Amino acid sequence: MSKSEIVQPFLDKKEALKLYDLDIFTLGKMAGAIREEYFGKKTFFNSNRHLNPTNKCADICKFCGFSAHRKNPNPYTLSKEEALEQIRIAINNGALEIHIVGAHNPKLDLQWYLELFRTIKEKYPLIHIKALTAAEVNFLSKISNKPFEEVLELMAENGVDSMPGGGAEIFDEKVREYICKGKVDSVRWLEIHGYWHSLGKKSNATMLFGHIESREHRIDHLLRLYYQQEKSGGFNAFIPLVYQKENNFLKVTNFPSGQEILKTIAISRILLPNIPHIKAYWATLGLNLALVAQEFGADDIDGTIQKEAIQSASGSKSANGLAKEELIAQIKNAGFIPVERDSLYNEIKIY
Ligand code: SF4
Repeated sequence: MSKSEIVQPFLDKKEALKLYDLDIFTLGKMAGAIREEYFGKKTFFNSNRHLNPTNKCADICKFCGFSAHRKNPNPYTLSKEEALEQIRIAINNGALEIHIVGAHNPKLDLQWYLELFRTIKEKYPLIHIKALTAAEVNFLSKISNKPFEEVLELMAENGVDSMPGGGAEIFDEKVREYICKGKVDSVRWLEIHGYWHSLGKKSNATMLFGHIESREHRIDHLLRLYYQQEKSGGFNAFIPLVYQKENNFLKVTNFPSGQEILKTIAISRILLPNIPHIKAYWATLGLNLALVAQEFGADDIDGTIQKEAIQSASGSKSANGLAKEELIAQIKNAGFIPVERDSLYNEIKIY
């Protein structure tokens, strides 16, 4: 079946929403067939390291447990030297990608980041820099008084290889207004990725779900991404992020069941046939559910991470990453073929 044949029946939001009425096994079969056609039994992972330079934030997203506030009163800002030291250690430990995202701290301006990227590339020309969510790009554009296009061009010129998919949260304007007022709006989030793709660069896309949004909002989010990908074509992976409940101000009491999470992952695979990879990010799902998600259309599990501060601040067990050997063993145990990839999904080694 071609990619457009897969998604055509579901382009109408109401039709797409009916996918949730299917039982989990039917959805698993549908999504699994697409995964199988694209990648067979391969499950991708990479050797990466997250670097979160600061948690002091000018914004107040209600779901956030990472930024420094009264529930998490431990503000920090790394100096450039400290950031570079963390990167040196990460590379010695085998990281091939440095994933740099953080809070919106006016003290870390565009120049600070550009200098950091330049220095990393001068010291380690082969390392892949994945950096700055569209929300951070928008923030740096505002505080530097430069159009976002210029910020993106400067990022590319100074060594950023690809962009992560964060800051998308939920595109629906009303939900967004409630959970993260002030952050980049949905239209601008998509424009930023579209422009980045027009520079010949790749990025990822996320969706934060399992909080106050409805199934309709998730479907709307997925279809907006589908159309953006039709236009600009540069999304490598879609990452459905499960909301983490601790240390934040959202007061959610109704968390999605494992079944609802797996259905959402399967529906993502079905509605986004034009985005190659669906990532079950173990840092928000937990490793076991991320492995089960491989049966529901996901083909990627993220990576070793080494250090993680954002999801773990809200309760995830990802603070210290996972050893590569453990990831490989767990993927094999689950009946899949572990494939170490680089940041652009070139295969490095099949285990
Ligand atoms: S999610 Fe990002 S922008 Fe929002 S408060 Fe947290 S660190 Fe700041």
